[in-house]
Amino acid sequence: MQITRIEVFLLKRPLTSPMHISRGGFKVRQHALVKVHTDAGITGLGEGVGNAPLIKTIIDSQLSSEAVGLNPMNVEQLRERFFHAPVYFERKGSVVCAASAIEMACWDIKGKALDVPCYDLLGGLYRKRIPAYASDVYWEENIQYMADNACRIQDLGFNAIKVHVGWESPEKDRARVKAIREAVGPEMRLMVDINAGYNLHEARRAAKLWSPFDIFWLEEPLMPAHVDALADLRQCIDIPIAAGENEFFAEGFHELFRNRAVDVAMPDIGRAGGILETKNICAVAQAAGVPVSPHNFSSGVLLAATAHLMAATPNTMLLEMDTSGNAVYDDLIMEGVCLKDGEFEINDTPGLGVDIPESVLETYAVA
Ligand SMILES: [Mg+2]
Repeated sequence: MQITRIEVFLLKRPLTSPMHISRGGFKVRQHALVKVHTDAGITGLGEGVGNAPLIKTIIDSQLSSEAVGLNPMNVEQLRERFFHAPVYFERKGSVVCAASAIEMACWDIKGKALDVPCYDLLGGLYRKRIPAYASDVYWEENIQYMADNACRIQDLGFNAIKVHVGWESPEKDRARVKAIREAVGPEMRLMVDINAGYNLHEARRAAKLWSPFDIFWLEEPLMPAHVDALADLRQCIDIPIAAGENEFFAEGFHELFRNRAVDVAMPDIGRAGGILETKNICAVAQAAGVPVSPHNFSSGVLLAATAHLMAATPNTMLLEMDTSGNAVYDDLIMEGVCLKDGEFEINDTPGLGVDIPESVLETYAVA
């Protein structure tokens, strides 16, 4: 089998409500989805996570021609081709995201060709139902709005929820964390994502001020490159630290583990290097004794890839689900998103079990 061509679809979706994090607000989400075609008539879908228009340009201008002629069943060979060049010249960033998308699509093709779901290719089924958490509550001026939104998510059946604060000082945002904890009660797992909005000093203060509210993890408190500072922070606070959504390759995560900088690793399959690289990251994490909760905040293609990996990988925990109504999930997953009692049930459709219907392209695609 040979790859014959690669299509990249740029999907754009105006948000039903703006999402505000420590780095500012955004009103539109974009997705770079790839469809890899083969001479066997089988196609596969993948997604690159990051700057979607740039990912499309990288694939269209270079990676596509590198991939054409290769056998998508030989994923390691394809990876080596990309690593030799151009990834060699761009060790972190959009080129890796673009390569991740094509690699993901090859697993989809391989699953379809062998008539097995992707989790069968990644170690086999370890669990069919994956505990999930809602990734939804965004920073708002109106604190009551945030608390009400957390309650809405609780009513969906989730027992774990992630909120984004850090737009204001730890002192001011304390009221937000407090209000949400009081709204959802003591049983709900509560994660707080700072999106690297604080420096070490501020993050220390935040951990101290917010510690009465039983935070399950503090996510990305510092800039991704500040590994030493992250390790220092971890040494002096009681709240577990989660990070890694802006880290790349197993080597990047090895650095985090070697410095004892994280309690939970968060690789993004569409960003860190693809499905196999994320499986490798899970192995490195296993050796370091660190659980993995993959970052998953994009379309149904990334959701499917993440779910298949987690279904086959014991040291992963808590599937991230966007419950805001802004996600392009159901439209892409063939049998719909099966979420029950806060758990995601994986289906056994061959490959990743995703598709891009014409109706989705008509609704979201940027010409
Ligand atoms: Mg995050």
